[in-house]
Amino acid sequence: MKDVKAYAAQDKDAALQEIQIKRRDLLDNDVAIDIMYCGVCHSDIHAKLNDWGNAKYPIVPGHEIIGKVTAVGSSVSNHKVGDLVGVGCMVDSCTDCSACNEDMEMWCENGSTSTYNSKDKHLGGHTLGGYSKHIVVRDHFVLKIPTQLDTKAVAPLLCAGITTYSPLKHWNVKKGDKVGVVGLGGLGHMGIKFAAAMGAETVMITTSEEKAQDAKRLGANQVIISKDLDQMKEHNNSFDFILNTIPVGHDVNPYLALLKRDRTMCLVGAIEPLENIHGANLILRRKNLAGSLIGGIKETQEMLDFCGDHNITSDVEMIDIQDINTAFDRVQSNDVKYRFVIDMESL
Ligand code: NAP
Ligand code: ZN
Repeated sequence: MKDVKAYAAQDKDAALQEIQIKRRDLLDNDVAIDIMYCGVCHSDIHAKLNDWGNAKYPIVPGHEIIGKVTAVGSSVSNHKVGDLVGVGCMVDSCTDCSACNEDMEMWCENGSTSTYNSKDKHLGGHTLGGYSKHIVVRDHFVLKIPTQLDTKAVAPLLCAGITTYSPLKHWNVKKGDKVGVVGLGGLGHMGIKFAAAMGAETVMITTSEEKAQDAKRLGANQVIISKDLDQMKEHNNSFDFILNTIPVGHDVNPYLALLKRDRTMCLVGAIEPLENIHGANLILRRKNLAGSLIGGIKETQEMLDFCGDHNITSDVEMIDIQDINTAFDRVQSNDVKYRFVIDMESL
């Protein structure tokens, strides 16, 4: 086993601070990675605060990992020492159930292993994430990173990227569709970039008037300020698809009203109770409310390759690991443009 420096919180109210953790010895199908960069997802904050009731402490968050391969197990053929690689929200699954066989490891019938906060099958205890210098991951869950992109700005693709790309693909967003993205944060700014790259007419739906210019720079054709109900009403029954990234329970009714007949709004943010949904908003025009969770490994690689081909990366603000607690506060107060990424050299 290898001792590795990491940043952890000991309970929900504690600040993150440096600790030593252990990484396992290489198994035959393992890849050892020195971590260069790790994105800061709003899920890291939900998890640390135990918002979803499943927190395990000490918690080492981080599931937008970019690094260099330092060693591979004897049966690994798809990665080699020196490769630039990524690790997202999952580090293992059974790889042999109906979901895994359809490349949807996140819905593994036997339970996928999250990068942090899951049972650690090898060392006991729970898995520890990317706010650390080094990680050991089963080869199937290690992604290849296009080397022509700005490496530090690629890190957020591993979660924010796939979480927005996957539903846009699943609901077949195409040229000419009117697509709304609700919430201009880490996920939302990737959602707008992808929808624009897929040829859609894109509309940023935001609570923040001051983000309107940025939304247009990121690829939005129009901006709706969601607090302005008259502006919202002008767009009723006009959207082909809406991707909703709001991170808390909220009133979905005004957003459902925006959809055309038979169309879908997909939630990715609010993993908690929603306010009451008025049935009329679904029934009267046969509308759909759906959800989506990250994406499988095959689709994550497809998304990374799509980003390589279309020169898509995240807009990042680099931080040292010592600034992580301030970064958490700033994400919570909606003050990030549009993803913090930790430079792991600082640890
Ligand atoms: P983020 O950077 O904080 O962005 C969220 C955006 O939502 C904010 O920038 C803000 O945009 C808007 N917003 C915040 N609070 C709001 C409120 N009370 N009402 C209306 N709008 C609000 O967060 P993120 O990293 O993009 O993550 C978004 C959510 O997705 C989190 O809950 C995260 O845990 C979840 N998530 C889910 C998955 C999945 O697989 N389903 C994967 C990753 C993350 P405006 O200023 O534009 O309004
Ligand atoms: Zn995430």
